Amino acid sequence: MPHSVDPLRSAFADELQRVSSERELRALRDRYLGRKGGVVATLMKQIAAAPSGDRRLLGQLANEFKTDVERALAERQQALQDRLEPVEAVDITLPGRPIAQGRRHPLVILRDRLEDIFAELGYAVVEGPEIEDEYHNFEALNIAPDHPARDMQDTLYLNAPIDSRRGTAPPSERTRPQVDRAATLLRTHTSGMQIRYMEAHEPPIRIIAPGRVYRRDNLDLTHTPMFHQVEGLVVDESITMADLKGTLTHLLRELFGPDARALFRPTFFPYTEPSADVFVSCHACHGSGCPVCKRTGWLEILGCGMVHPAVFEAVGYDPERFGGFAFGIGIERLAMLKYGVDDIRMFYENDLRFLEQFPH
Ligand SMILES: [Zn+2]
Repeated sequence: MPHSVDPLRSAFADELQRVSSERELRALRDRYLGRKGGVVATLMKQIAAAPSGDRRLLGQLANEFKTDVERALAERQQALQDRLEPVEAVDITLPGRPIAQGRRHPLVILRDRLEDIFAELGYAVVEGPEIEDEYHNFEALNIAPDHPARDMQDTLYLNAPIDSRRGTAPPSERTRPQVDRAATLLRTHTSGMQIRYMEAHEPPIRIIAPGRVYRRDNLDLTHTPMFHQVEGLVVDESITMADLKGTLTHLLRELFGPDARALFRPTFFPYTEPSADVFVSCHACHGSGCPVCKRTGWLEILGCGMVHPAVFEAVGYDPERFGGFAFGIGIERLAMLKYGVDDIRMFYENDLRFLEQFPH
């Protein structure tokens, strides 16, 4: 006959200590509180059989023990649940977690900016096919059959042009593909859109044509086999070089700030005459010379010129009546100069640490 419940208390405390799952806790509860054979039930039976003088005190101790066991089991149950379901333990005073937001790619930011600038000047934005034929990509743009750009080393042909002398020769033997309107290629520039648009429309024309272009280049710091251009074309009566210079100077000031200066240096393109490379004063040193501009004070931004009469003739426009200018901007090059990026491959590696640096 027990005279104390202390040994039971310490045994229970030991067992409770070792419980590490709800299953073990249920087993412990059954062992102590089970109606038949449970430790507490057995104790009560023993007390009922005890001499009446001891019964009252023992009954009181047993009831206290039972209450303590119930409370300890309940607390342990709660602790296990808290551990298993941490989502239940929400601190509503914590600040919320920011939701990751998508953003525009830097090349898209610049393309959109260019579209906005020209839209304000009344230009329409048009798009054309990336799979182009030799006629629209070269011939109609006054690019002669023996021009090096037509070499298969530079252009990605989809079906090889027919060489009348040797049949279909492997690319290494082919230096002068014959003009073949059926030959298809990945367009090497967006200038083919000049032809496609003029074929379908009468002047006046004011368009820009953004899009992807392809060259047979290996990846390096400044070359990728695919990149982006924005083509511009204006055709009307009495369009002069002054219109071209005014438009592009405005463009450069919109892109690089109101103090930006433009420099036009004569160059050669088959589809414009005269032609010019356009430079903007270096925004990093304001023209005094720095590593960004290779100490020249100027950054080469784009190529442009007055539409060549042969191009007008190809689309059936009268070159005596109409004048026009055209320009082509490489978006990657512009982005590298504007944002100070020195490796073009960064734009295609999808590294968020790089992409997240650009303003929305
Ligand atoms: Zn500079």
